[in-house]
Amino acid sequence: MSTSFDVIVIGAGPGGYVAAIRAAQLGLKAAVVEREHLGGICLNWGCIPTKAMLRSAEIFHLMHRAKDFGLKAEGIGYDLDAVVKRSRGIAKQLNSGVGHLLKKNKVTVFMGAATVAAKGKVSVKTAKGTQELTAKNVILATGARARELPGLEADGDLVWTYKHALLPPRMPKNLLVIGSGAIGIEFASFYNTLGAETVVVEVLDRILPVEDAEISALARKAFEGQGMTLIESAMVKQLDRDPNKSGGGKVTAHIEKGGKVEKMTFDTVISAVGIVGNVEGLGLEALGVKIDRTHVVTDAYCRTGVEGLYAIGDLAGAPWLAHKASHEGVMVAEMIAGKQVHPVRPESIAGCTYCHPQVASVGMTEAGAKAAGRKIKVGRFPFMANGKAIALGESEGLVKVIFDAATGELLGAHMIGAEVTELIQGYVVGRQLETTEEDLMHTVFPHPTLSEMMHEAVLDAYGRAIHF
Ligand SMILES: Cc1cc2nc3c(=O)[nH]c(=O)nc-3n(C[C@H](O)[C@H](O)[C@H](O)COP(=O)(O)OP(=O)(O)OC[C@H]3O[C@@H](n4cnc5c(N)ncnc54)[C@H](O)[C@@H]3O)c2cc1C
Repeated sequence: MSTSFDVIVIGAGPGGYVAAIRAAQLGLKAAVVEREHLGGICLNWGCIPTKAMLRSAEIFHLMHRAKDFGLKAEGIGYDLDAVVKRSRGIAKQLNSGVGHLLKKNKVTVFMGAATVAAKGKVSVKTAKGTQELTAKNVILATGARARELPGLEADGDLVWTYKHALLPPRMPKNLLVIGSGAIGIEFASFYNTLGAETVVVEVLDRILPVEDAEISALARKAFEGQGMTLIESAMVKQLDRDPNKSGGGKVTAHIEKGGKVEKMTFDTVISAVGIVGNVEGLGLEALGVKIDRTHVVTDAYCRTGVEGLYAIGDLAGAPWLAHKASHEGVMVAEMIAGKQVHPVRPESIAGCTYCHPQVASVGMTEAGAKAAGRKIKVGRFPFMANGKAIALGESEGLVKVIFDAATGELLGAHMIGAEVTELIQGYVVGRQLETTEEDLMHTVFPHPTLSEMMHEAVLDAYGRAIHF
């Protein structure tokens, strides 16, 4: 097998495998090194298996609402093992799909752990020994893993990371979720829907803290309506673990809020307090690569400052999203092939949370736009005034848009409600095409669709909404 390449990519997550495929499409000799699983966290332990499990929860929820639709469903229940089996099966299917795509595009795959031994030199430790590879260009795409806070470390029994939560040893009865970012809220939504008494603790002053404050508030109302307890501006200081008590283990959490500590007992804790980049063991220090809080520092083109060495995806910093990783992969591969490229702009990347109701957003929040000194026009449209939402039985939610008052630039869009993770891309395309309020107002939206709310929210920003 050849050991010299134009491009070697380390890590076959969405950033890495897409970079390798795009490089190969452009005629470069490409290899990818992966130590664990093709598809990375995204396909194996992240985006895809969580969405498979959330789909089961969504159907379970709808089955309980059968009567609302004139239907009968009796003896509704679930089999958690079967839910997990389906999720793992889908992850496996997509993992082999990545293998097939790499083969089809003639990307050489090395299964092993890679180190950058020197500039342009990659050592791969495989089951059979160490293999030395060379390449003019090396792309680091080693991703990230769950952050562990001292005292709150996962043990796989009482305290879980996302990996344990995707392969649960049991159905939690009393669940504490630490952290209300997308990952924490998705698991809270899943287990709460299946019947776990769920408490979410968030250190910042609101859940889903990166979202627009109005959307966070609506999410809070919806989750509380579903029986979740949300404790904001609070910190889990300590977990007392008692694995053997009366057959089932218990964890007592010390939760500090406003200077007072309250103790609450759970049978399961999910720690979702962020991620750390996989920077270790790659030889980066010796190469002089700058690392800031576990992430490789790059410029807007993912260049590390070491010639021919790039870093993409979760390893290279926020937003920690698969579509950001894969887009950076394409950009870097094209740049290496000599094409003119555009840097990936984080503000143009939509964030989606697949809880119930869903949350999706792109660009500036209202507070962020004001803080940036922009004069803005804000439009809103509620789900309860949209025909399709009512027909679907999904009349809870809001679409909110923020425009620059002077130029009509669409600064941000924020949504909560059914299928908003599918809708948001309409505004992303609009922003990419530098659309203004005029273009959006002149666009004809099909009826009846949820997308009509995207039109009406724009009209509302200019005092022209028809149906509200
Ligand atoms: C529970 C959960 C849900 C998520 N849901 C979503 C979602 O809905 N949408 C979304 O956009 N994002 C989601 N994410 C985030 C998403 O998974 C990541 O942003 C994405 O996987 C990052 O891609 P990547 O290519 O940078 O790295 P990764 O997917 O982490 O892949 C990195 C790969 O590098 C390999 N590797 C590491 N070190 C080495 C080495 N030395 N040698 C060889 N191989 C190595 C690893 O084994 C891994 O396979 C979720 C994450 C989690 C945990």
